[in-house]
Amino acid sequence: KEETDINVLVDEYLRLAYHGLRAKDKSFNATLDTHFDDSIKTINIVPQDIGRVVLNLITNAFYAVSERKTTVEKDLLGFKNLAGQDTYQPTLKVSTKKIKNTIEISVKDNGIGIPKKVLDKIFQPFFTTKPTGQGTGLGLSLSYDIIKAHGGNINVNTKENEGTTFTIILPTS
Ligand code: ADP
Ligand code: MG
Repeated sequence: KEETDINVLVDEYLRLAYHGLRAKDKSFNATLDTHFDDSIKTINIVPQDIGRVVLNLITNAFYAVSERKTTVEKDLLGFKNLAGQDTYQPTLKVSTKKIKNTIEISVKDNGIGIPKKVLDKIFQPFFTTKPTGQGTGLGLSLSYDIIKAHGGNINVNTKENEGTTFTIILPTS
């Protein structure tokens, strides 16, 4: 473990993931809304491991918003959305917050959301809803193990067609 500036770590992975996506698809744009709690000094973690968790949550969030964007565009082509649903703007809200003896890292997207029947399975190894070759289904199961090894917790809040928030809670000591 190392004393790590979690705000720098999260910000770096967010930008890395976004630039990686835009390099592949120049037309992809998302609003990135970040709130970093300046009262957080450093936290004693395995930075590569927590970095992997953060990167996986962010990658999943970008996937969820691009899927929703594709759906909205298809509906537009099929004239389902004449009312003007073309205003969909992919948005990721990423924040850190110190609450008593814990640090919360939250990744919120306004993507496709997770259906109830799928929600029970997302932390299982090899569970994925992505097309073959696009997902290993290992991201969240690995993330869960890493967060548990740090004495923390990972929570999810989601609504179909509205979005998803993952929150990591890490103890400061
Ligand atoms: P993978 O990304 O390889 O599919 P994960 O373990 O990271 O594997 O995620 C498992 C599944 O959980 C995904 O296939 C998807 O169905 C669901 N999921 C995870 N994050 C999100 C999200 N932000 N929005 C919607 N679905 C999600
Ligand atoms: Mg994943």
